[in-house]
Amino acid sequence: MAKNDPQQKQQRTFFVKELIAFAVLFILLGFTVYGIFQHSVMQNVDIGLENQRSQILTNQSQPSIRIDPNKGTAKITPSVGGPFRSSTIIFDKDGTIINKPMLGDHFYSLIKSIKLDKTQTDKIYDMTISSKNFTSHFRTLLVKVPESNENALYAGNYAMIVENIDADLLALKSFQKAIFITIIIFWILAISIAYYLSKSSMKPILKSWRRQRDFSANAAHELRTPLTIIRNQLEFLLTKPNDKVVDQAEKISTSLNSVNQLQTLTDRLLTLSRSDADVVQVNLQSQKLDTFFTEVIRPYKDVAASQNKNLTVNIDTPGSGAFDGGLIRQLLVILIDNGIKYTPTEGEIGIDIQRIKDNLKIKVSDNGPGIPDTDKKRIFERFYRTDKSRNSKTGGNGLGLAIASFIVDQHHGKISVRDNQPTGAIFEVSIPLKSHVKVI
Ligand code: ADP
Repeated sequence: MAKNDPQQKQQRTFFVKELIAFAVLFILLGFTVYGIFQHSVMQNVDIGLENQRSQILTNQSQPSIRIDPNKGTAKITPSVGGPFRSSTIIFDKDGTIINKPMLGDHFYSLIKSIKLDKTQTDKIYDMTISSKNFTSHFRTLLVKVPESNENALYAGNYAMIVENIDADLLALKSFQKAIFITIIIFWILAISIAYYLSKSSMKPILKSWRRQRDFSANAAHELRTPLTIIRNQLEFLLTKPNDKVVDQAEKISTSLNSVNQLQTLTDRLLTLSRSDADVVQVNLQSQKLDTFFTEVIRPYKDVAASQNKNLTVNIDTPGSGAFDGGLIRQLLVILIDNGIKYTPTEGEIGIDIQRIKDNLKIKVSDNGPGIPDTDKKRIFERFYRTDKSRNSKTGGNGLGLAIASFIVDQHHGKISVRDNQPTGAIFEVSIPLKSHVKVI
């Protein structure tokens, strides 16, 4: 493919767009999954905080303080059933922490600087506490406990329920990392799959686009030669306004030949472009085989004779069969035309048509130059000609066999070419005959 092929450029643009689209999609996916996960983790923490609050307010399983009157010491019974990582800091109205013994020295040293902010009452918020060695994150809920609370430790005070969320944040961080890696892996995977799929689905499109491009270029090229000839001849005739037709018969006949060539070319181009557009309807009709083939071949005896070439015909086709008469006629015309065209004067062209069971076998042979092995496969391609210089003399355009192959395909048959002995080519066609008329 050429470097500046617009299709390749388009493919590159398409690929870049795919990269971006997948990136956006996966980033969105990542954010959504992470958001949901984070929300559910925090929601669990918050549910824990709310439970604690209701336990405090309903005085369930809460720590209590009991003053030993003999020793003057306070004995605190810790709460039962509270979350493992949560603690409750109790402030009196002035903001002094009153449950220091309950908190433990280490925790107390960490939280002692917390100030009571009464405006945060009943709000869940995050709090970061930093010490020399480490930083801890908490989620907290400040509860104003009514005076009526049965627990003397709480009554009329503020209970700050704090839950350490370091482990949750760590889990979230690991999850973030896992998501990031997963996204990258799946992004690369998705891109590779999309690239492979787009490449394989683009293949037939590219193929038909290139075929169409070559077709138009070749068609224009083929049209140019006869048109140039006609223009030259007409320009020449204009320089001889007083000549009679008979004086310029050669020029006129050359122009006429070119017009005929143009006619054949445009007919063939039309057939092929209709075949591409899938608008060729195969019109199967029951034909009396002998009559049909005799009629198609009859004019060619004269054509061959006029060129001093020998045409031998053998038709052995009993009964009738269904096929598209117009298309099969066109197929025979192409093969016989070629046979006559490429056979030198005094050459032999043979047509052999037989019905073998439900198969129609058509054989057109000649003793012309034949077709080199390397070209045998390619002669059925559009515009392919074995020898350009020889073909320019015969006026061929390389479309006949492409049409022949299309017609045979339409009839689910086969076409092939092999060498004739000692020289020449034999074209063989095999078409299954439908015994009844079927409309496609
Ligand atoms: P064209 O109009 O050029 O004959 P075709 O598609 O019918 O186009 O044939 C393709 C090419 O195959 C021809 O240009 C010619 O080179 C070769 N070819 C076809 N038929 C014969 C034949 N009977 N003998 C030798 N060469 C042939």
